[in-house]
Amino acid sequence: MDSKERIAKALSISTDTKVFEMGQGVAEGTPDVFKKCFPGRKAVVLADVHTWPVLGERIYGLFQQADIPVEKYVIDKEVFHADWKYVEMTDCVVRGDYAQAKVIEDSAEHVETEPEKCFRQPSEDYNILISVGSGVINDLCKLSSYHHGQSYISVATAASVDGYSSFGASITYGGAKQTFTCPAPVAIVADIDVIAAAPKHMTAAGYADLAAKIPAGAEWMISDFVGTEPLHDDAWHILQDYLDDFLADPDGVAAGDPKAVADLFEGLALSGFAMQAARSSRPASCCDHLFSHILDMTGHRYKGELQSHGYQVAVGTLTMCAVFDELFKLDLENIDVDACVAAWPTLEQEQQRALEQFRDFPAPRLGYDEITKKYADAQTVRAELTKLKAQWPEFKARLQGQMYSFATMQDLFRRAGAPYDPSHIGVTRQQLKDMFPIVQLMRFRYNVLDLAKRGGFYDAIVEPVFAEGGAWEI
Ligand SMILES: [Zn+2]
Repeated sequence: MDSKERIAKALSISTDTKVFEMGQGVAEGTPDVFKKCFPGRKAVVLADVHTWPVLGERIYGLFQQADIPVEKYVIDKEVFHADWKYVEMTDCVVRGDYAQAKVIEDSAEHVETEPEKCFRQPSEDYNILISVGSGVINDLCKLSSYHHGQSYISVATAASVDGYSSFGASITYGGAKQTFTCPAPVAIVADIDVIAAAPKHMTAAGYADLAAKIPAGAEWMISDFVGTEPLHDDAWHILQDYLDDFLADPDGVAAGDPKAVADLFEGLALSGFAMQAARSSRPASCCDHLFSHILDMTGHRYKGELQSHGYQVAVGTLTMCAVFDELFKLDLENIDVDACVAAWPTLEQEQQRALEQFRDFPAPRLGYDEITKKYADAQTVRAELTKLKAQWPEFKARLQGQMYSFATMQDLFRRAGAPYDPSHIGVTRQQLKDMFPIVQLMRFRYNVLDLAKRGGFYDAIVEPVFAEGGAWEI
């Protein structure tokens, strides 16, 4: 399958996105995409001080030339994050109330409106958002469009995240980063001339976010193996069949080579389409992303700066590669199932453990709630381990076919310009090690650490990562 066929296939399985234009110079066609998707409507270009001169101004001019009623709103901040107030600002932009949008943007003490109270009846009078930017601007447009019962066009400026085509927006509300459910854009325009010229750290971050789909895929295979979340055929194949190819040119990614960057962008977009098809983030993330969520939730900064999603995910991805390296050293065909089942804790014990682990965490109940959702009784654990013991050599071979070794992944990240050591994002190895119990418990999703807890080999795959000679030797 070539790129055109893959994209056609992806659009056929995606539930929200109907148009995906990718290539050098395709930004010129954005007005045509608009006319096709939103005939007779008004547009508003949403950009910030970085993306306006790069592309926003040009898109605005193209809409004027095409006789489409168009306005603009440029967020006047050098640095801003996906805080709830910017969603409310964007809500005002949709309704054409730019003065109020500006008041909210500049307010230092904005009182957040409850998310449920931000919805409005759809109206033909609202502006259609043209998102010109990457992660944050796209997420703001995604959620605000949803609040008004309409869609939008995402014009990408960097291959930095897989969020262009995914449903859901990652926004900080009430001090905690949360994912708000909302549909992906109806159309995505990815001009490779613009994207290849994006700041290198953004492209490197996108490379790491795409590479995370290697361990995330292996953990999905594990949850499929035990039967908690079966593989979704379309969602798996649309991304995983080509993932090795998309990751094959880290040097080109670092150099801003158009072909390498187009491959990277396509991979990230396909990852979003896979999530649309599966109606879940399972195809795109597992433990690799949870390290990043912990850093987000604890407000981690390095040299005063919050670290980008992709940079944090780079460290989580490498760590999971190291964990799998250790897993593959084990002879699980010799596992003592009876002993493991006898040692398996009760739900109450697990809840207690979660409360203790999360005592000083910003969300102290999180582990308790998630372990309650994913706890399995002793009988289920027996069945899982019996299957694992019987099929380990064959299953291990399949997992090895999916995974990259730590050494391989680290080399790729080094060449792509992504972080390849936790110190690159200001995290010590001890901090990383201390995150493991939280990672295991913080999501309802079955992960490799859950399997290891059941089989009594948790310490055997975590401790060596940080021991002498380990990937993150302390
Ligand atoms: Zn991600």
